[in-house]
Amino acid sequence: MDLNKSLYTQKIEYLSLKNQNTSAPKIDEEALKKEMEKRWLMVLGEGAVFMIFLILGIVKTNKAFRAEISLTRQQKNFLLSITHEFKSPLSSIKLYLQTLQKRDLDKEKQSVFIKNAINDTERLNQLVENALLATQIENNNYTFRKENVSLSNFIKEILTINYNLLFNFEKKIDFQTHIESDIFYCIDKLAFSSVLINLMENAIKYSDEEVKLTVELKKVDKNILLRFIDEGMGISDHEKDKIFKKFYRSGDERTRRTKGTGLGLYIVSNVVEHHNGKILVKDNKPKGSIFEIWLDSEHNECE
Ligand code: ADP
Repeated sequence: MDLNKSLYTQKIEYLSLKNQNTSAPKIDEEALKKEMEKRWLMVLGEGAVFMIFLILGIVKTNKAFRAEISLTRQQKNFLLSITHEFKSPLSSIKLYLQTLQKRDLDKEKQSVFIKNAINDTERLNQLVENALLATQIENNNYTFRKENVSLSNFIKEILTINYNLLFNFEKKIDFQTHIESDIFYCIDKLAFSSVLINLMENAIKYSDEEVKLTVELKKVDKNILLRFIDEGMGISDHEKDKIFKKFYRSGDERTRRTKGTGLGLYIVSNVVEHHNGKILVKDNKPKGSIFEIWLDSEHNECE
């Protein structure tokens, strides 16, 4: 811009000197000024475009860098938590078996130990299923085998079977269901059961000693609404979006008290999406969370 200005003054000086002794028409200073301003705008425009691209580039690189760091941290957390998750049921199964082997326990004690060992095996199984399902969904390797089922019966069945697992949490549980009958939907039974189990397990995990969980299924106009309502610790507004991301767990792995891998809600939201559904998380009153699954019963894929 400085060069442009000095060029302009020199041009004026040169032309006025050249024109001094001639009868040529006077130089058009106005036109020269306009030309200088035009160049000035051009330089400014180019500079601005360059700056915009530079800033965009920096912002994008920074974002990608942060995402990479956060994913690495979450993956590290995942490894830490999955090792922990595997270790604790494994060591308790080992302990139950060793006690059964060494001690001559009465029949009643034996059956309690065996039941606990089976529950721990079931936990391990659930963990492996979750990891497998998450990997398959992510790689688009999972084939959804859908069939038209009575959602009402299916939910009752899965919740009842898995209710036994809840006793493992050693919490006082007030569990209620309000399931409207004769609601049908096209689902992949395996994937959908994982939605139900994950939401039920979370409601218990993230509640204090006294758990209150209500599961509702009803028709709302042309949609089907499935709700998991708990009175647990709730989810802050800034975490509501994050909890559905892979490996996301709130807090720090070393200080956290609850077990988990951060895969549960990632699977839940993916499976719901594959069923033409939407999942929302809301605050419950006075405390706790509500997970709502909206299914579009007008687009039943099985029909
Ligand atoms: P995990 O339970 O293995 O940590 P999830 O993907 O199931 O992984 O959940 C992600 C995070 O969302 C949890 O770490 C927890 O902080 C939060 N969360 C999930 N469900 C609930 C709930 N019902 N109440 C409060 N917080 C929850």
